Amino acid sequence: MQSSNFDQQHIWHPYNKLPSSHLQLEVASAEGSLITLQDGRKLLDAMSSWWSSIHGYNHPAINQAAIDQIQTLSHIMFGGFTHQPAIQLARKLIEISPAGLEKIFFADSGSVSVEVALKVALQYWKSKQRPEKNRFLALQHAYHGDTFGAMSVCDPIEGMHHLFSNNLMPNYFAPAPQPGLVVEDNHDIQALESLFEQHHTELAAFILEPLVQGAGGMRFYRPEYIKRARELCDQYEVLLIADEIATGFGRTGKLFACEWAHISPDIMCIGKALTGGYMTLAAMLCTQEISDTISQQNPGLLMHGPTFMGNPLACRIALASLELLLSQDWQNQVKLISTHLTQAFEPLKHYQEVRDIRVLGGIGVIELTRDDLSYAIQQAAIENGVWLRPFGRLVYTMPAYNISADNLQALSQGISNAVSHVLSTQPSGEATLSDQFV
Ligand SMILES: *Cc1c(COP(=O)(O)O)cnc(C)c1O
Repeated sequence: MQSSNFDQQHIWHPYNKLPSSHLQLEVASAEGSLITLQDGRKLLDAMSSWWSSIHGYNHPAINQAAIDQIQTLSHIMFGGFTHQPAIQLARKLIEISPAGLEKIFFADSGSVSVEVALKVALQYWKSKQRPEKNRFLALQHAYHGDTFGAMSVCDPIEGMHHLFSNNLMPNYFAPAPQPGLVVEDNHDIQALESLFEQHHTELAAFILEPLVQGAGGMRFYRPEYIKRARELCDQYEVLLIADEIATGFGRTGKLFACEWAHISPDIMCIGKALTGGYMTLAAMLCTQEISDTISQQNPGLLMHGPTFMGNPLACRIALASLELLLSQDWQNQVKLISTHLTQAFEPLKHYQEVRDIRVLGGIGVIELTRDDLSYAIQQAAIENGVWLRPFGRLVYTMPAYNISADNLQALSQGISNAVSHVLSTQPSGEATLSDQFV
């Protein structure tokens, strides 16, 4: 059996069926922003492997750190042992995180860090003898991961987890923040206030993706909303969990999106770009007040401990990625991406089927009025030498921060041309339905 056929018959890909209706592209190698396929084609990477490879692929500094670490210690159980990669990474993360986040739990994926965050919130209120505070408030259009706890705080209707709704914790959902950085009124905040007022006695925490709701719709919203969320959490004794898994490490133009609102959450989850896209690693950070409250109980244990917790190789790579990030002018790189994408996508506004063009930090979004063109647009982009993975109505890109000006130009041109091509050749009503979810 040809290897691509074997893959199609036997291996699940994200949010896909078996056998998959389309062949996956086989990758041979990747370097910088260029992905080389097995058949020799080269594609510019518009996705940064879902927000993660912020420095591009095959970066010499991160490679070297990985080689050094692999020749020293790839893995050792974290139960009973510690090591320099974990200690140094923890120090660095605590130093750069919003003020007050001083305790850290290393997890193996973003979803798991969300599970840990939810557990910590529940354990916190149990420790305070307030076990009735055991539900969560989340936002419509939210996405926090694919495990059961995380699914229970994802958008319950539009989200991908409505399939499991009968098996999930019954949580509360506030209307999604109004899209846009400037809005006319605060009806979304008023709705949030009344949910706090009604349910605060049962609420353990309010979880949100600050500034950008990612997989739930690539929606940008104003910092004022986050600020108000912080105040409501304080007023009603509810913990604030910031899921910075997608927004963290500079993608929105600040190191963490919470900085736009000048607030600190009580709990923060990070992942995705943490290792520069090299390996899976995530973390949950929280305040000393939370860790003390849990730890002063008897027995005071935080009941979580993945086999690969604090993996030294992943920690060392994350440290190298962070050092690289902080040693360069990433703010300016992100600003250049912002400026470029804003200009490059502007002409697409003329299409009737283009509902909105929006750019924030290193994220560019083209929102269509139709949700059936994503596969056709992806294919057209590949023809133009660009790797894109649109979903539903959303065509979006988040290039590596260090993408060259020429590659950025070619990338945005490839995306624009793909969208124009499909919109001008696809007769309405005769669409090819896409089965690509995210
Ligand atoms: C991707 C993502 C997650 C889940 O992370 P995984 O590493 O895929 O488990 C959680 N929250 C947000 C905001 C994400 O973007």
